[in-house]
Amino acid sequence: MSDPKLPSPDEIQKRLAEMLRSAFQDKSTPDTATPQTSGHDDYLTPKTQKEISPLSQFHYTPRQIKAHLDRFVIRQDEAKKILSIAVCDHYHHARAVANNQMPCSKGSQEYTKQNVLLIGPTGVGKTYLVKHIADLIGVPFVKADATKFSETGYVGGDVDDLVRELVDRAGGDISLAEIGIIFLDEIDKIAGSQGHSGRDVSGRGVQTTLLKLMEETEVPLKNPADMQAQIQAVMEMQRGRHLHKETINTRHILFIVSGAFEGLNRIVRRRCQKSHIGFGANAVSIDLEASLLHATTTRDLVEYGFEPEFIGRLPVRSICHPLEVDDLFSIMKHSEGSIIRQYERAFHAYGIAVHFEDAALREIACLAIQEKTGARGLLTTLEKLLRDFKYELPDSGIESFTVNASFVKDSSFYLTQLLQTGSAQKELTMKAVATEFLRHFSEQHGVQLEISELALIKLVQRALTEGISMLDLCEKLFKDYQFGLHLIQKGKPGAKLILQETAIDDPEGYLSELVVQSYRTD
Ligand code: ADP
Repeated sequence: MSDPKLPSPDEIQKRLAEMLRSAFQDKSTPDTATPQTSGHDDYLTPKTQKEISPLSQFHYTPRQIKAHLDRFVIRQDEAKKILSIAVCDHYHHARAVANNQMPCSKGSQEYTKQNVLLIGPTGVGKTYLVKHIADLIGVPFVKADATKFSETGYVGGDVDDLVRELVDRAGGDISLAEIGIIFLDEIDKIAGSQGHSGRDVSGRGVQTTLLKLMEETEVPLKNPADMQAQIQAVMEMQRGRHLHKETINTRHILFIVSGAFEGLNRIVRRRCQKSHIGFGANAVSIDLEASLLHATTTRDLVEYGFEPEFIGRLPVRSICHPLEVDDLFSIMKHSEGSIIRQYERAFHAYGIAVHFEDAALREIACLAIQEKTGARGLLTTLEKLLRDFKYELPDSGIESFTVNASFVKDSSFYLTQLLQTGSAQKELTMKAVATEFLRHFSEQHGVQLEISELALIKLVQRALTEGISMLDLCEKLFKDYQFGLHLIQKGKPGAKLILQETAIDDPEGYLSELVVQSYRTD
């Protein structure tokens, strides 16, 4: 008997379908469309669960997002806070619109989209921040360099391709793509030439095209200039697989743009100097690069070469700071996803445990900072330092090693030493394998077979020369020994055979000789 207080399965299914329809405004393609209502088993399939998330499940607070970023990204506290707030504002708003709690018409005065401008040098975590935000909330994320776009889309890429790429990243789910994040780096390179030192004139055209995307536009799912995509669309239509929705709306796509903005500090300084009478009082703080960039205004960015309308679409701005030696140390030592873990895993794959001492990490940080590429310098430095180790140590017999400060100072000396220790260790291991093989062989066949120390050394040399494992070599040399050994035991019961050096060069001849000897009666 069914419980009268519970709705029937049909009722649940109907309500669920209504909820999904209102949450996604019927925007999906047939593949991801509103759930079937014909059969009980159809509702809440994995596909519909995917549709519900992540927008309807977005209940983060800025503090929670920042806490997540703190696990991975060292420093950049201000950028973390500002991004966390912008992301919360953006997705709470998008959710409200999706739930029909807010007007969403184009040009609505209710809400200014929280697109973000991140200013900061290369390799300080700008992309990393955005990637982790996208990962956390489960939306697709696309990154591109603004420099690859031309105004017309014929020379470089088409800016609309970014939006189409979001659909790819969303596995074809347009609804998901429509709440994705587009990250455009090197945005300073599309500043117009009138502003700062002679930049590409087409930059202003790209700004205009981007402006439309950042605001709201419908981007065709198939690139109109891509003949193959167009033909495919026609064929799909002919096959009756006409897609419900052939455009992607960019209203709820979050745009985050970034760049190093070299020379912007000069513009800001000039303006500050002009506008501050008695500026000397502020001179100390204004002289600091970071403080200068914090004082950046829309006017400075326009002077730099951006259209006021373009900058106007980027209301949220933040600075990412250059990283110092201590930061690089912390990145290696404390950040989740530290590059050090990557190296540990790489060596672990060969059965080698590597341990990095703090003093070594500090030395590595000092070398990396000289690269002037932020945290990217860590990868360059570590690669230079450990490349030969990655090549030489697998199959060297080394099972663990420690990277200390002197290692960093003279790694090739350390490698030579390590290889020497490794070959001694390797020989010991090989000897142990051979002895174990013979013990097992004796047990299995009821014979007594041992090996002399000199023969063991020769056996190791042969395995090394032939480049085969000790086990394979033993099996190859002694696989037929049991017959001969049984014969010997028949001739001399309880005889113990100790393999000598000649057995390694010619195992068969050696055994035959022994058999003959065992039957000789003298
Ligand atoms: P950019 O600022 O040029 O976008 P990225 O964010 O791509 O630089 O940084 C490159 C890599 O360096 C990241 O993938 C990450 O591994 C590391 N990294 C950079 N900055 C930080 C940071 N502040 N904390 C932790 N890792 C960082």
